Amino acid sequence: MSITRITAIPISYRLPEGKTVTMGIGSTLKRDAIIVRVETSEGVTGYGESHPGRSPGAIVSHINNTLAPLLVGMPATDVVGAWQRVHRMQFSSHGLGAGAAMALSGIDMALWDIRGKIANMPLYELLGGSRRRLPAYAGGISMGYQPAQALAEEAQSYIRQGYKAVKLRIGDTVKNDIERCLRVRKEIGDDIEILTDANTAYTIAQARRVLPALADIKAGWLEEPFACNDFASYREAAKITPLVPLAAGENHFMRFEFAQMLEARAVQVWQPDLSKTGGITEAIRIAAMASAFGIPINAHSSATGLNHAATLHFMAATENSGYFEACVSQFNPFRDMFGTIFSIGEDGCVEPPSGPGLGVEVDESIFNDFPVIDGPGYVVKF
Ligand SMILES: [Mg+2]
Repeated sequence: MSITRITAIPISYRLPEGKTVTMGIGSTLKRDAIIVRVETSEGVTGYGESHPGRSPGAIVSHINNTLAPLLVGMPATDVVGAWQRVHRMQFSSHGLGAGAAMALSGIDMALWDIRGKIANMPLYELLGGSRRRLPAYAGGISMGYQPAQALAEEAQSYIRQGYKAVKLRIGDTVKNDIERCLRVRKEIGDDIEILTDANTAYTIAQARRVLPALADIKAGWLEEPFACNDFASYREAAKITPLVPLAAGENHFMRFEFAQMLEARAVQVWQPDLSKTGGITEAIRIAAMASAFGIPINAHSSATGLNHAATLHFMAATENSGYFEACVSQFNPFRDMFGTIFSIGEDGCVEPPSGPGLGVEVDESIFNDFPVIDGPGYVVKF
C-alpha cells in the first residue's frame, strides 16, 4: 500500500463579537487550522492536523507543493521512513525548521490514522495502550484576562461540568495576575488544581514576584513564562521556588529541542503538541526521553477534534502522561466539527475514541463552512 496523494486544506473561523479571549500573546480575532488528507493505493484514507503557525497559507503550500512530492510513492505504513525523509530534506538542512515540523505533523498523524484503519484498531490499542481514563484540565482558549470575580465564575462553570483542574491565563500585570489567582483559589477551594499559563509574557523580574504567590495558591505549574528559546531565564526561574514546576513544549519542535530543554534542567513539565512537534512518531520519542528523567507529558492540543483525538490516543498509550488539555473555549466550532471527541466525566477524566485509527469520522463537506481567512490571528498591544 503506497501513498498516492497528500492534500492540505486550510480552514478558519472568526471569533464573534464578545467572544474574544485576551492572554499573554494578545486577543484572539480568528483561529486557523489545517486538515491533512493522505490517500493510498488501497483506497484507505487518513486524516491529520497541522498547526498553522499563524500563517496557514505557508504551511499548506509546504505540504502540497514540497512534502507531497517527497512522500508520494512511499509505503503508507512506513511512518518512520516518511518522518526521516522530511526531517533530512526539510528540517535539518536548508529547510523550514519549525514550519517543516508543523507540516510533517499532520502527515504523520494521517499515516497513523491509516495504520489503525488497516489494523482495524483504535490508535491507543495499536500504540500499546488501553482505553483508560485520562485526567483532563479545562484549557484551550479560555479563562483570559477579566475581572477576578468573573474569572472565578468562569472557572466554577467548568468545575460544575466535572473538571478537577483549570488553567488561568496570566502574564498580564503582576498585580492583576496575583489578584486573579488568589481570588480564584479562594472561590473554588483547595481541592481543584489551578494551572497557570503566561504565554511567554514575563520577564525574569516579573516571574520572581509572581512565583511566590503561585506557590501560596499551590499552582500545579507555571506554563511558558518566557520565550521558547530563553533557556537562561527558565534556568533562573527554576531556582525561585521548588514548589511550582515550570512547563513548556507547545513551542518546541522535534526531540532535539526537548533534549536542549533537558540539558537546561529548567522545565519540569513537558507539553509537546502533536500537530506541531513532528507528529505522533516524534511525540512517542519525546515521551520516552522524558520518562527516563521523571518528567510528565501534558500534551498541548489545539485546535480541531483530530488533534484532540490523536492526543487522547497517544496519552492512553504513554506511561508518563499527565493531564489532557480539554478545549473548553466558549466558541470553537473546530472542536465539534467531527462530532463529540471527548466528554468530561464526574471523575474529571476523559477517554480516547473507540473507532479504528483516530476514531474520527471526517465529512469533508463541513470544510466549506470555514473558508480560510488571511491575516494575523491575534492582536497585541505593543
Ligand atoms: Mg500554553
